[in-house]
Amino acid sequence: MSFMVFKTIRSTLTAFNSLAIATLCAGFLGFTIYAHEGLYQEAVESDLNALSNNMAEDLFKILGASKLDTDAIISTLLRLKEYENAELAYVYDKDYAQLELYTGASMPVVAEDKTNGISFNAELKQAKSIPLGISYESGKLRSKKSIGEPDSPIGYLLIINDLDEPLSKSRVAIIVNALIFSLVVTGIGIAFSLWLNSRMLLPFQKLARLAHRIKETNDYSIEINVDGKQEVRDLSYEISSMMDTIHEEEITNREYTEQLMQQRKAMERLANFDGLTGLPNRQFFMETLRKSLSAAERENNDMVLMYFDLDGFKGVNDAHGHEVGDKLLIEASKRTQRFLRHGDLIARLGGDEFLILLYNDPSDFVVTDIAERIIKEISKPFDINDWEIQISGSIGIARAADAKYNLSDFVSNADVAMYKSKDEGKNTHTIFVPEMMEDNKRRLIIANNIIAGLRENEFEVYYQPKVNADESIVGFEALLRWHSPTLGFVSPAEFIIIAEQSGKIHQITEWLLQKVLCDYTKILEHFGESTVISLNLSAHDLKNPKILPLITALYESCQINPKCIEYEVTESTYLENFDMANQFFENIRNMGSSIALDDFGTGYSSLSYLTQIKLDTLKIDKQFVDNLGISERSTLVTKTVIEMAKQLNLNICAEGVETPQQMNFLVDQGCHQLQGYLFGKPIDLASLLEKPYKKDTKKQLAVSIET
Ligand code: C2E
Ligand code: CA
Ligand code: CA
Repeated sequence: MSFMVFKTIRSTLTAFNSLAIATLCAGFLGFTIYAHEGLYQEAVESDLNALSNNMAEDLFKILGASKLDTDAIISTLLRLKEYENAELAYVYDKDYAQLELYTGASMPVVAEDKTNGISFNAELKQAKSIPLGISYESGKLRSKKSIGEPDSPIGYLLIINDLDEPLSKSRVAIIVNALIFSLVVTGIGIAFSLWLNSRMLLPFQKLARLAHRIKETNDYSIEINVDGKQEVRDLSYEISSMMDTIHEEEITNREYTEQLMQQRKAMERLANFDGLTGLPNRQFFMETLRKSLSAAERENNDMVLMYFDLDGFKGVNDAHGHEVGDKLLIEASKRTQRFLRHGDLIARLGGDEFLILLYNDPSDFVVTDIAERIIKEISKPFDINDWEIQISGSIGIARAADAKYNLSDFVSNADVAMYKSKDEGKNTHTIFVPEMMEDNKRRLIIANNIIAGLRENEFEVYYQPKVNADESIVGFEALLRWHSPTLGFVSPAEFIIIAEQSGKIHQITEWLLQKVLCDYTKILEHFGESTVISLNLSAHDLKNPKILPLITALYESCQINPKCIEYEVTESTYLENFDMANQFFENIRNMGSSIALDDFGTGYSSLSYLTQIKLDTLKIDKQFVDNLGISERSTLVTKTVIEMAKQLNLNICAEGVETPQQMNFLVDQGCHQLQGYLFGKPIDLASLLEKPYKKDTKKQLAVSIET
């Protein structure tokens, strides 16, 4: 645009200059011709005057001679030959009788035929009337001189000199010359003007070209350095510094944009990825899953989803702190990823839960293989901050077709299968089958009926005896039973977990405490003052602020000897919140009651923490007792555990003793207490109190209880 403007300005200036020069030249030419003509006439007049004076003087001598010498007159007249414009010259005597005539350079000077004077009569008259001196008429200059003194002339000289023709010739010559000159001057002028214009406009053109280049390239770093007049240099300098500012602004803008891009990326990461493990988060995963599900449904493909949850993670977090917990999550996610294939997608759902979308609809065999490998890898000890931490993982697996490609049903099915794994003892995987939904429904019904069941007295406490090495009853474990009118008999192994998961365990424990501590007097009256009643506490109970005050109040109102009450807790109770558990049990022990560690050996703990907690009894889990004499490893572990407990001054109670061989082995190893069907199944209080108790006839009791 600006470039075009410059071009237009330049051509306009050039045209204007040319016109001005042409007009000037024309004016100049006119003036020159006019001046020339004046000067020319003046010069011719002066020359003619001088010439005729000379000739008149010469003729005076000739005419003054006594004898008329015509030759001398002729030769005088012939001097006019040199003057080509002298057309005619007459020499008259004093009476205007023509003595000689000169008729120009082309004609010889001939004496006029005096007889043929008729043709000259007119001229004669005319000659007479012509004044002396120089006069002009009809384009001719006439010079009339008296030969001799004008008062007493002896003759006259008249020279007719052509003025117009030489004048017009000279004018033409001048015009031609002037034209040539003008053309040359105009040419030079135009060239000069062009040169001047270009010199003046070149810097602007340069600037325009640079502006054009900048527009094309968007490169504001182009250096502007245009030479020219001061103004142009100033302009160039100003534009250059403006460009510098733009360039700086551009760099700042670019940096700012870069920063914004990075922030956007970071925001995207924050929005879509988990800050701890760097895995995609729930939102990202669900969005991907939604798209994949609709694609799979369209193409009639199935998909497999794994719901993966760490067992006992919360305990690690509470026992070792969040730093260790976080590192464990990172490590566990890394280990898990090792078994995923290219195309599988893993995400952290939150806490210790992960979702894995398996690529390309793998068969049950492949899915099982992946799940087993993950579980095996997760159950290997983790070495974190000098702690050797052992956990496990539970996996639920679902297929999209079972959920009819519905996103929430798909995830929920995997979740249900995962819970099934938890229910089945954790550290395992379960593939969802539609029947599990029925289980889930049952779980819901159970959860919804617990409170009503407690209110309606559907729950009952059963007591299972514990005996010592000589089979004397030393105590009873209180075990809950639920006979629901709608659900029938519900095992505590089923409803306790549901109660824990649905937040209803507090009510159960509170109910249990009241019930057992009320039964206490009757049991002790029947079985002796030193009988110890054991109650099971859930890990969740420790978080119930009402529990300790309730225990204190009940001890008082029921006149309980705290020594006769023992609380059984599992390892997970400790692991979920180590400090809190220690404090809780410290309080219990301070009251005078004791603590037993239940199901020892089935959990995730390392033996190392046994030295850090205050315990009274270690209960060896039934699965070790079951395997005594069958599995060498189990036998060895049981032996070692008993030995270690002895070293730690702990009471040892073996549970699930069903055979005399098991009993004998355990007693031989130094086990202090035994519990199991061999000595009695759990029974209700009424049945228990009905049975006769004789301290030395334990077998009799056992038999009677079983019947
Ligand atoms: P637990 O605390 O380990 O209880 C021992 C379980 O082993 C009881 O099952 C008991 O009936 C069973 N048992 C004892 N001796 C033998 C035996 O020789 N052979 C066999 N096969 N089983 C034997 P139960 O009563 O079904 O209780 C299951 C679990 O439910 C308990 O395991 C305990 O963890 C939980 N539980 C029961 N009652 C309560 C309760 O009042 N509160 C809490 N928090 N948990 C309870
Ligand atoms: Ca127990
Ligand atoms: Ca147990």
